Amino acid sequence: MPQINTVFTNFLNVPPVQNWQTKPQQTPKIEAKKLPWLKDRTIAAALSELDNISFDEKDLAYLKAMGVNPPYKSGSGAVDFIKNSNVRIAFAKTSSKHIHAQYDYEKNTIYINDLYKNSQDFPVILAIAEAILHEAGHAKDNDGDSSIQEELDFLGMNAIAHRAFLKKYGDIFNESDELIVKDGVNVYAELFFEPDPDKKKLVERMKKKYGYLQQGDALHPASKLARKIKGFDFTAFSAG
Ligand SMILES: [Zn+2]
Repeated sequence: MPQINTVFTNFLNVPPVQNWQTKPQQTPKIEAKKLPWLKDRTIAAALSELDNISFDEKDLAYLKAMGVNPPYKSGSGAVDFIKNSNVRIAFAKTSSKHIHAQYDYEKNTIYINDLYKNSQDFPVILAIAEAILHEAGHAKDNDGDSSIQEELDFLGMNAIAHRAFLKKYGDIFNESDELIVKDGVNVYAELFFEPDPDKKKLVERMKKKYGYLQQGDALHPASKLARKIKGFDFTAFSAG
């Protein structure tokens, strides 16, 4: 069971953190959304950042042209869903340091790898915001199942959220050594927006990580890209 830090049980009366490693964050507007369970300062900061980003229309159009359909059109859309569907967010041990976050259908809870518990490192907080966004996609589906297309839809959404953070804060991620940053959120922003029209590196990475999944599902019908990742498109087929 994840441990909730009782120091922050009275979160709404806790003054905003002053010692961010980079830019100070805005007054957390998340307070206005009144999430009664929200006691953890790191999660509150991540949700606040998520609540305040919007996606670039051109980025959304770019994804659409790739056959990728993000379930939320802004960060606040995801935060509203979390509030309205009473999704909880907590830190917990995950089975590997490479699993940054997970959604538990039975508990309706998003778990963030407890390696990052109590982090006040700003790039990590933004990365947690992106992880929450991704898992909020799985929570919205509520089908306990995934597919290559579903992951494409959510990871593509992660890519444009990451670009929104870069636009807002500059490249504050490139010096981070944290896995959730360098093997997490940085990766997909690059892969989805690679100039290569065949997106070969994205296809390779998706094959490796998600190739075992079905290519699509009822909520996420497989696009050409998903079929290519699954290996059904012979022009993209590679043995092994
Ligand atoms: Zn996923």
